[in-house]
Amino acid sequence: MKKFIVDTSDTYFLDKIYDDIEKLCENYIKLLSKNVIGKSVEGRDIVALKISGEIKDEKPAVLLVGGIHAREDFSVMLCMKMIDYYCNYYEAGKSLDGFDVKNIIDMTDMYFVPVANPDGLNIVHNGPESSSNYNKLKNMKIWGEDHTYWKANANGVDLNKNFDDGNWEIRTCVPGTDVPCSDRFKGFAPDSEPETKALINFCNKNNFELMVTYHCSGNCSFWADIGTHDMFNGLDEKIMDELNKKYIYRKTKISQDPKVYGCGFENWFRARKKRPGFCIELSPFVEGGKQHPDYMFDELVWQHARSTGLFFAEKAVKVHSEIHDDTEKYAALTRDEIVR
Ligand SMILES: [Zn+2]
Repeated sequence: MKKFIVDTSDTYFLDKIYDDIEKLCENYIKLLSKNVIGKSVEGRDIVALKISGEIKDEKPAVLLVGGIHAREDFSVMLCMKMIDYYCNYYEAGKSLDGFDVKNIIDMTDMYFVPVANPDGLNIVHNGPESSSNYNKLKNMKIWGEDHTYWKANANGVDLNKNFDDGNWEIRTCVPGTDVPCSDRFKGFAPDSEPETKALINFCNKNNFELMVTYHCSGNCSFWADIGTHDMFNGLDEKIMDELNKKYIYRKTKISQDPKVYGCGFENWFRARKKRPGFCIELSPFVEGGKQHPDYMFDELVWQHARSTGLFFAEKAVKVHSEIHDDTEKYAALTRDEIVR
């Protein structure tokens, strides 16, 4: 077997991540390809990686996203390490946690956006002074003890509240977060941020059957909201129940109030792409948005979550066949009516 490239023994800095992306693409030249899907506020590349295996025909596609929230390092580490392991295991013809890696990758196109908010990650690791937007950032409130609590992008917008899922007007910001700050400001307009736009354009260009966005913390999963749940005819819950049996990610209740849940990426994906979207909260819950130390990644996240990407890739095939094979039943889900 080849040596692994991604090292998650401690903090995974942005320079190293970008380096590793290049190394991974060189090392797995037949399996892995890279695509820059947009630029951040500070002009950093927002990178998508595609594992498609040796079969190049278009296949059911799954999208896995990390690092929308800056401080949630574990979500980035997980995506990068899954890419490394899945390519490695594919070549070696090995199984991972009971999943036949080669078989799954040959059936699907797995897309990753490991760092959806690179500027935010830089702020978490190196402080707001290291941002080219520092003049704006220095006056923004940090909710938490220091810059390691930063959650937003370099405009002080919480990207996971910036997506126009139809709830923009009613989506509320809790008092104090209705201006740019480290956490929870939804932005001055829907889809205003370059990182938001990059994800939206990427989803509009690809027919993802299913999307997963990784966050921290809580070891649980947000899998449905009341505005879209009905359109999936129970398919979202079926997938969730299976996830629940296999993994530690507890099933939460269906999100009830669009004032509170609206404008997240997963909500947007369900509403606009009419496909299931899952938000997985990695690692045990910590109060107040504090994060576990990075060196605990392997113990708190990797050993539990490492095959979730394969799990969801398999489910993307299922969504594809259920939705496309039964056009009558799933008429409401056809892509023709998707206008955005
Ligand atoms: Zn988050």
